[in-house]
Amino acid sequence: MDFRFTPEEEAFRQEVQHFIKQELQLPSGYWGDLETEFDPQNFELTKQVAKKLGEKQWLAMNWPKEYGGLEVSPIKHMIFKEEAAYHQLPGIDMGVGGITWVGPTLLLLGTPEQKNEHLPPLAAGEKWWCTMYSEPGAGSDMANVMCRAVLQGDEYIINGQKVWTSAAHIADWGWLLVKTDPDASKKHHGISLLLVDMKTPGITVRPLLNMAGHHFFNEVFFDDVHVPKRNLIGEENRGWYHTMIAMAFERTMGVMFAAGARRLIEELVKFAKETKVNGQPLGKDPSIRQKLAELAIEVEIARVMSYRIVWQQTKGEIPGYEAPMIKVFASETLQQMTDVGTQIMGLYGQLWLGSKWAPLQGTIADTYMNSVGMLIAAGTSEILRNIIAERGLGLPRSI
Ligand SMILES: Cc1cc2nc3c(=O)[nH]c(=O)nc-3n(C[C@H](O)[C@H](O)[C@H](O)COP(=O)(O)OP(=O)(O)OC[C@H]3O[C@@H](n4cnc5c(N)ncnc54)[C@H](O)[C@@H]3O)c2cc1C
Repeated sequence: MDFRFTPEEEAFRQEVQHFIKQELQLPSGYWGDLETEFDPQNFELTKQVAKKLGEKQWLAMNWPKEYGGLEVSPIKHMIFKEEAAYHQLPGIDMGVGGITWVGPTLLLLGTPEQKNEHLPPLAAGEKWWCTMYSEPGAGSDMANVMCRAVLQGDEYIINGQKVWTSAAHIADWGWLLVKTDPDASKKHHGISLLLVDMKTPGITVRPLLNMAGHHFFNEVFFDDVHVPKRNLIGEENRGWYHTMIAMAFERTMGVMFAAGARRLIEELVKFAKETKVNGQPLGKDPSIRQKLAELAIEVEIARVMSYRIVWQQTKGEIPGYEAPMIKVFASETLQQMTDVGTQIMGLYGQLWLGSKWAPLQGTIADTYMNSVGMLIAAGTSEILRNIIAERGLGLPRSI
């Protein structure tokens, strides 16, 4: 088995690294993570980075040229995503889902008008998206959505509530799951997917602060919101199946978790080499060495697992249980890493972003808090293990 990249792919990786260092000019000591990029104090930088990456046509570089892509292979696109995640670049998903699942699903199911309207501004780093699936009574059991859309003439009238909507406060557009047929014989048969302009009258977005204090997600309320029928994705009442396609794209984000974890282990190893206790580097302590070595192995496994997914994509396969595998593995590895990080750093590891005494600019404490949400978003670890058990191991359905 040959894991090497081609010389052209290696040259591209160098080009991305060079661009990040020379052109993006992130503040010194910058450390972004998935949940800080939409905080009011960070969003200007997030927009600037996305715009510059859009100008390079890297954000959606695997899309067709007519929609702002470069039609490159999934491997080259993965190299960009790996470098972006390793360097913790903000804005690379254009909100939550814009690049990773809204665009790819529109490419498969969108009308020519929908593709022309939405794909070029996404690829150019200009329009921001949020995804509105979850509701107070519909999380893991997503088919339970109650947010109602009633067709009147050539408009849907929407009433209901969404919750945990990441990036809704900065989004121009929303990817919305609604109930269109409450009388359908099976609950997942009466659901549809709509594109919603977030400035439409009747939409109220209320902030929810996460436990690290970041404004990442929101509640969204719909009160007689009028959405043109032309904004329906695919077929009415087939939204469940369309969403399953979008979720298959969503779970390929494990590539980025794996690259983010690689950066974190490198930072921890550097810390263990440079920090001395009683004149000895921390990394001489057997228990610390063992923990870091174990994590390094897991980071390497996550990297290889993520390459497998991209390799499947190059063959036109949809990674059914493999994408959940990497998402569970990489998000849990990331959490273990922040756990080990806080142990190694002792009380200093609890100091927050911005404290001058905080090791690694406080990123370990911040990532420690944010890592909990990563085990829940895009399917909880339990739900994903169920998918792996069923589709990967052929075990019977749990319920
Ligand atoms: C950081 C973050 C960002 C998010 N962003 C968005 C977003 O942008 N848009 C959006 O729509 N949603 C978003 N969500 C919501 C997320 O999709 C849901 O939280 C998730 O699907 C779980 O749903 P729930 O919170 O209702 O928990 P529940 O579904 O009520 O689950 C509660 C617990 O029960 C377990 N459980 C449930 N069913 C089963 C089962 N069948 N077998 C075994 N265990 C089970 C779960 O694993 C979990 O531990 C986000 C969540 C987080 C944490």
